[in-house]
Amino acid sequence: MIKLEHITKYYNKNKINQITVCNDVNLSFKDTGLVVILGPSGSGKTTLLNVISGMDSFDEGKITFAGETLEKYSQRKWDKIRKNKIGYVYQNYHLITGISVYKNIEPMFKMQGITDEAVINEKVAKLLKIVNLENYSDRLVRQLSGGEQQRVAFARALANNPDVILADEPTGNLDGKTTIELMNLIKLISKNKLVVLVTHEKALCNYYADRIIKISSGKIVEDKINEQVKNLDYIQEHIITLSDFKKSTTKTDGMVVNRFTDSKIKDELNIDLIERNKTLYVKIDSDSLKRTKYIDSDSEIVILNKPEDRVKRLETFDLYDDVNHSDKNQAFTLKDSFKNALERINIFKKKNIILYLVLFLVGIVISVSIGLIGEIYNVSEPFVEIDSNYITVNMNKSKYDTYNDLYNIAGVDQIMLVNEPFRFKLTNPKYYELRESISVYAQPIDIKYFDEENLIYGSLPNEYDIVIDRSVADVIINENRDKGINSYKDVINCEFKLQTNGSDTYKAIDTALYFKISGIANGNSQSVWMKEELIYSFVTPNLIDYRIMQDGFEIVSGDLPVDWTRIMINENYPSVKLGDIPYNIGITAGNFYISGVYRYSPDGITSYDFGNTMVTELPHIKDKYFNITNFRHSAFELLVYSENVKSTLVNLENAGYEVSANVYEPINARQEKLEENQIFFILGIGGILISAFSILLIMRASLISRMYEVGVYRNIGISRKEIRRIFLSEIIITTTLSSVLGYLLTIVLLTQAESSIQLVSITHYTWLTSILVIVGLYIINITFGLIPINILLIKTPSAIMKLNDM
Ligand code: ADP
Ligand code: MG
Repeated sequence: MIKLEHITKYYNKNKINQITVCNDVNLSFKDTGLVVILGPSGSGKTTLLNVISGMDSFDEGKITFAGETLEKYSQRKWDKIRKNKIGYVYQNYHLITGISVYKNIEPMFKMQGITDEAVINEKVAKLLKIVNLENYSDRLVRQLSGGEQQRVAFARALANNPDVILADEPTGNLDGKTTIELMNLIKLISKNKLVVLVTHEKALCNYYADRIIKISSGKIVEDKINEQVKNLDYIQEHIITLSDFKKSTTKTDGMVVNRFTDSKIKDELNIDLIERNKTLYVKIDSDSLKRTKYIDSDSEIVILNKPEDRVKRLETFDLYDDVNHSDKNQAFTLKDSFKNALERINIFKKKNIILYLVLFLVGIVISVSIGLIGEIYNVSEPFVEIDSNYITVNMNKSKYDTYNDLYNIAGVDQIMLVNEPFRFKLTNPKYYELRESISVYAQPIDIKYFDEENLIYGSLPNEYDIVIDRSVADVIINENRDKGINSYKDVINCEFKLQTNGSDTYKAIDTALYFKISGIANGNSQSVWMKEELIYSFVTPNLIDYRIMQDGFEIVSGDLPVDWTRIMINENYPSVKLGDIPYNIGITAGNFYISGVYRYSPDGITSYDFGNTMVTELPHIKDKYFNITNFRHSAFELLVYSENVKSTLVNLENAGYEVSANVYEPINARQEKLEENQIFFILGIGGILISAFSILLIMRASLISRMYEVGVYRNIGISRKEIRRIFLSEIIITTTLSSVLGYLLTIVLLTQAESSIQLVSITHYTWLTSILVIVGLYIINITFGLIPINILLIKTPSAIMKLNDM
């Protein structure tokens, strides 16, 4: 059934101190019987037993185990064999002492596919009965004596109904009487199964063994069938097997006396038995008998009728009916692992409280960094971006007076002199402005370039209506919630206000012009669309195009200006009111000749006081704007609108202009932000590294205290996968309770704080990044947390156990 051929094993292979612990071992074992391997300490007995059970590797030869031949050591194959076919017993019991007897044996049944607790309970009870530990199921192992622990170990070894029990000096730590009891149990087991027992005690060996294999320096030096020597004194002291004695029976009235003796000569034996008051008094008078011992339920002596008596008891058990050797059976299901991990976390939290705190802080750090990084990437806001159809042209002094020459270049549709976002003021019916008004920065574009298909809210513009980009509407909403603006509808109800008297007061009602926002466009630039004459009326102080007054405009005297040196003044201009029309005047925009007087009267009756407002026509106002904004600059920029930016760029370059496109490039914007904010990345990555390192330390600490447990589990054939899963559950729970908790709490706190105290938004979270980060945290923590256990699991089970013995 088990066959070893040329098995050779070295320690410190290929090193100077190489030793051969198994030296060309050839052995085969039958299905039952007690085989004793005998040899001095250090002769390689343990190693041989470990090789037979796959707990240790071998270097040469092959092993055949229940039909399967293994030429190369494979942990996975051996795990299966140990799980299903081997029971292993050690000198040091190798039980998990902190838990109950039941808990120690339970995984064995689970591994055999028996999961019903009631069934397991019943089977454990039966097993414990075999090893004479009835009612010990719920006792803590650590509270048992050595002999009792060893019997639990035997119960566990028997639980998977193994083909073979391997026992490594199982009586080495036990006293004489316990040794005998245990040896009897072993002998009993060997009637049904193969038991390979390692010992260096010759006496035991000679009495019990069916076969004795002697080993010395890793070599088999003798292998023989044992003619049993039964009359060992110290064995007789404790065990009395009646069939070994000569028996004579004496019957008198009311009394039967059986006399058993091991001596040839029967001495005269006088016994006085006195019965008084329900007590028996015994007086013995003999020449040869020196001592008298009484046997009752408390005494050490075991009386057997014949040696086989207890063998029968074992055979009658139906322990193994429902055993099923399937690979799918698990000692610890995922649920078990999580349950155990949850229970454990409380215990070792105290030890690792600092590391837990670190992990929690790490969660916070990561959260903050991710938020900040999110904000870096969150550059959809168009605050510095202008419409992608605009090309920026750098002008210099030599081109100063000839900006209109740009129209000669193919692809230039329109020149826009307003080269950066302008601050527009808005009114809203819900908000009665006193001092501060609502305002927004936006880059104007001629409404003729507005694409109707882009309208996402409101209606198409009429006359001097204005369309604004979605992102502009969003800014208006975000910055003016306190003023009652919460939706696109509220934004649409706002009006652009053109203040005509230069000062912005609540009295503006009849000194300002108002322009409706008709709709919102789907765009991500900072654009507002309006007629060109309206744009320049907004941006040139005190000077507007008369057409924006529409029907309210009326010429009182004189004519419309014919060039940029002339303007019309309002009939409410102070000197005009006094009947004197000045020849020329100076205003912010420059000095002008007066070409006429106008009236603004939208209802046809009231003449609005536009005393500070001069009017002219678009081309003149444009020239004026160009002069006032660019006169003092040696270099300046303007924008060119083009439907075909690419080719126009080339054309402009060829014509000697220095140009750049305003195509919206979030990547560039991000790059800039990134370079400014690299510290957040460092923080984020640092946090992740600290997290990885902390979890590694936590798991290492946890593993060190449980190395023994892992060793035990490996020895009874629990697969590496299952053990990894036990630790995995712990990592997941630890991560959840520390990093992930810190991470989520921080997100919640920061987003709450930013929205409730109206903090400037410095962090930005999206569902996707939040979830990705959490997934990432788990992956990193799992990867790093599993490192210690993965390193440990590379070792053979016996190597893991040796780590514990050190
Ligand atoms: P026994 O069980 O007969 O006392 P072992 O099988 O434990 O003997 O050990 C056999 C020999 O192998 C001993 O000389 C021991 O020192 C050596 N040995 C055991 N384990 C290791 C190891 N991990 N590395 C090096 N030598 C070892
Ligand atoms: Mg040993």
